[in-house]
Amino acid sequence: MAPYKTYKSVIEDMDINGQVSITNVEAPAMPAWSEDSIYVTPHITVIAFKGVEDEVLTHITENLTKAFSAKLSIIRAPRDALRDCLNITRGQLNASRVLRLVAGLRDLSGEGGIALGLVPGDAYVEGLNFVFGLASQHQATAVVFLERLKDRYGLPKGMSGYVDTDTYLERVLKEVMHELGHVFGLDHCTNRRCVMAFSNSIMDTDRKEWKYCQACAEGLSSSGIRISEDYVLES
Ligand SMILES: [Zn+2]
Ligand SMILES: [Zn+2]
Repeated sequence: MAPYKTYKSVIEDMDINGQVSITNVEAPAMPAWSEDSIYVTPHITVIAFKGVEDEVLTHITENLTKAFSAKLSIIRAPRDALRDCLNITRGQLNASRVLRLVAGLRDLSGEGGIALGLVPGDAYVEGLNFVFGLASQHQATAVVFLERLKDRYGLPKGMSGYVDTDTYLERVLKEVMHELGHVFGLDHCTNRRCVMAFSNSIMDTDRKEWKYCQACAEGLSSSGIRISEDYVLES
């Protein structure tokens, strides 16, 4: 399946169904830059597939605005758009395909900037049982998969359950900050409290914070990304 064809068919579906709405969110008043400022204001196009809860979208857009002073655009995409990304045998989404789809939707929307896909569902990449998210610095695109972030752990075998909303929202924020960190050029971090620490399981996600350690914050800064102090670990 050629990616181009996928994007085209997605857009045609959208035209027919009229389900795409684009809303520009006002950026906050920007601080006055010093003359030698080299920081850029990131533009993030959030692509929310149907099924993403309103609380998630609100929580993430508010935090991106605060953390990066980002200019945001929001695209709502139909869930059907994901159908070519589904591996029916595994019952999971192919994360690499979703990443290409999200990048393609950003390009076709003309919104530009970094693409951030919020995706209801569970996903894998070849060689891994699952991933919470995926990022490509080259494509300036990140995706976060929500299904496993709702899981409760510590339940008896064979039982499943969902965590409370606050924990869920916090986990989504951590994964979003982590994947955007990769888009901004950060690698995994050995500081286990840092949001750039690798999550092998939901316990790892719960253990880390939604903030960058000092070293990762400096990495962002050297890429020209200004991060609010509220999103940097104190030590
Ligand atoms: Zn990572
Ligand atoms: Zn770090």
